[in-house]
Amino acid sequence: MRPFGTTIFAEMSALAVRTGSVNLGQGFPDTDGPAAMLDAAAAAIHGGRNQYPPGPGIPELRAAISAHQRAFWGLDYDPDGEILVTAGATEAIAASILALCEPGDEVVCFEPYYDSYAASIALAGAVRRPVTLRAAEGRYAFDPAELRAAFGPRTRLVLLNSPHNPTGKVFTAAELAQIAQLCVEYDVLAVTDEVYEHLVFSDATAPHVPLAGLPGMRDRTVQISSAGKTFSCTGWKIGWVCSTRPLVSAVTRVKQFLTYVNAGPLQPAIAVALESPPSYYQEFRDDLQRKRDQLCKGLTEAGFSVLQPEGTYFVTADITPLGGTDGVDFCLALPERCGVVAVPTQVFYDDVDAGRRLIRFAFCKRDEVLDEAVARLQRL
Ligand code: PMP
Ligand code: GLN
Repeated sequence: MRPFGTTIFAEMSALAVRTGSVNLGQGFPDTDGPAAMLDAAAAAIHGGRNQYPPGPGIPELRAAISAHQRAFWGLDYDPDGEILVTAGATEAIAASILALCEPGDEVVCFEPYYDSYAASIALAGAVRRPVTLRAAEGRYAFDPAELRAAFGPRTRLVLLNSPHNPTGKVFTAAELAQIAQLCVEYDVLAVTDEVYEHLVFSDATAPHVPLAGLPGMRDRTVQISSAGKTFSCTGWKIGWVCSTRPLVSAVTRVKQFLTYVNAGPLQPAIAVALESPPSYYQEFRDDLQRKRDQLCKGLTEAGFSVLQPEGTYFVTADITPLGGTDGVDFCLALPERCGVVAVPTQVFYDDVDAGRRLIRFAFCKRDEVLDEAVARLQRL
């Protein structure tokens, strides 16, 4: 693990605190999730639910995850054996890769990739085979030939994140079909990171579709999500894995030695949150869409070239029109220049040049915080 330094998120948040900057780097909201969820957590803590929960997660949370999967995505998972509660999506991803990959196995993933992917693949002794997402005609896309070329005899699994951090891309039905077809053809597994499943904006070209729902994919997909984004509780670290009994059993084997179990009193609270009415999810998305528009407009006015995200709560901006040539240098200088923190996207690429001039801003912040950031950025 020597090549892995401090994560860019911790580094940039520390820079924001040190310089008193507006932090649009690390993606975490600055408001709380549903009141009923907060009350349920407090009640669980005061109600004595403070000891180790059951290994797979408490039954009412697994039942709520199962019901949510059915209601939103039409997928059926048995709460007893096909669902595992984890310490956030991060642990779910790490445990899945550790469980399913042998040293030397190859993992196909799309770059830019969320930073824990490279670390989890390295921990398993596996090898990443990145396929680059490039901006063309107003959206990020991959070259189908490049995707096909990434598959081979050592491919063990595809790691797919849609809606995608940091680009805001939502993979289309045609793209998902290509990925699924290759998984079936090469008889490999898929691990899907769907933590932004409820953040697809009304003007997106595609709705969110879980890869697990495509023909031939249900039994070869380990589907992962978490509560942090959807319910604005990133610090609670409750995630989950849904898959077949044997695959969930394999992931559980690893999870039990990473954390054993996690967040006892928060689990009943997430069960409550998952039962929120459909209007909660709609308002959450509409609110973030408005914030997206607010920040994209401000960034464009400040001189960045902006590719409007279709999902997630991140926007990627190109620094070239502002004379920038390197995102790391640009982000390190930004606090001094105007008191704003962003994240250089190049750290999420193996092909660093593909992301050298791109930086990421998070818009999951109160309106006045976004207004202040936008006002400061106009000084550039
Ligand atoms: N995957 C992606 C794409 C993310 O953006 C995040 C961010 N936080 C995670 C996984 C981690 O989720 P959690 O906080 O639930 O571990
Ligand atoms: N997922 C969040 C982001 O991309 C934060 C993750 C983290 O801090 N590890 O900004």
